[in-house]
Amino acid sequence: MTEFELIERFFKRPGKHGFLGIGDDCALMDVTPGYELAVSTDMLLEGRHFFADVDPEALGHKTLAVNLSDLAAMGAKPRAFTLAIALPAIEEAWIEAFTAGLFALADEHDCELIGGDTTRGPLTLSVTVLGEVPAGQALRRDAAKAGDDIWVSGHIGDAALALRALRGELALPEAAMEAVRTRLEWPAPRIALGQALLGSARVAIDLSDGLAGDLRHILDASRVGAAVEVERLPLSSVLRAQPEAERLACAIGGGDDYELCFTAPEAARAAIVQLGDVFDVPLTRIGRITPEPGLRWLGRDGKLVDERLVARFASFDHFA
Ligand code: ADP
Ligand code: MG
Repeated sequence: MTEFELIERFFKRPGKHGFLGIGDDCALMDVTPGYELAVSTDMLLEGRHFFADVDPEALGHKTLAVNLSDLAAMGAKPRAFTLAIALPAIEEAWIEAFTAGLFALADEHDCELIGGDTTRGPLTLSVTVLGEVPAGQALRRDAAKAGDDIWVSGHIGDAALALRALRGELALPEAAMEAVRTRLEWPAPRIALGQALLGSARVAIDLSDGLAGDLRHILDASRVGAAVEVERLPLSSVLRAQPEAERLACAIGGGDDYELCFTAPEAARAAIVQLGDVFDVPLTRIGRITPEPGLRWLGRDGKLVDERLVARFASFDHFA
């Protein structure tokens, strides 16, 4: 099979939106008047972001999911994406499963594959996603204000727990393993929630590198600090069953959850609680933005959690 046959057979599908899609030098798409284009790229490498034997369908899903999650964190609506892929060889069953996972999620969010690049090489995946957000309304990182509540969607820390178990660093009962493994391999980007937060939330970020590191990005960009109550962190029953150090390490330092962390003024509390009901996702208030800089973790009785304990859970950095 040639490169072009491969693209034709596996990646090209009839377009639904009237874009000029796969097959020309560039794709062409319109932008809705009054909207801004939101653009984001994420790359996944074998050995670094996924294990060589990962289920290809799950990998297809995750490759797009981590990118859609960035759109969610801006409050943007997905429109289209491109896919750059390096493959060591053409294994048809593998590519079929990969694209099945990829296109199922793409269709769920009405996001069309409009182009890309295909080469031979060590398995590498890179998606660039294009979305739209009403001009001037995107949920950036630099607008948090002292006094804002800090919120988190869903449960955090499960993906990190799964990763530790897959690496053999701890053992989990089968049902628990299954549950957290799904969180790691089939993350659900909070697309609808992100768009619904426009108007209520002030800033948002998706939790890809861990709460500690990702929240710090908001604090740095907004030039504020935060106090987070550790007891309020929303944990699944599986993670709650772990010893305290494990719980903290996964919930504070663990990445790959793709939940949203956002801040909002106190006046928006009722509206946000209602959004949680509408979208059937737990939305939990975990702390406050403070005028003084720094990120403080408060334990029971409002006492500071030992800094040395928390420092161990610095967020993931590829070059650290
Ligand atoms: P060019 O040489 O002009 O860069 P390519 O030969 O790389 O074009 O690709 C041919 C067409 O197929 C282009 O429209 C490109 O966007 C598309 N394409 C290539 N690889 C992929 C892929 N993995 N997924 C989707 N579209 C792809
Ligand atoms: Mg090319």
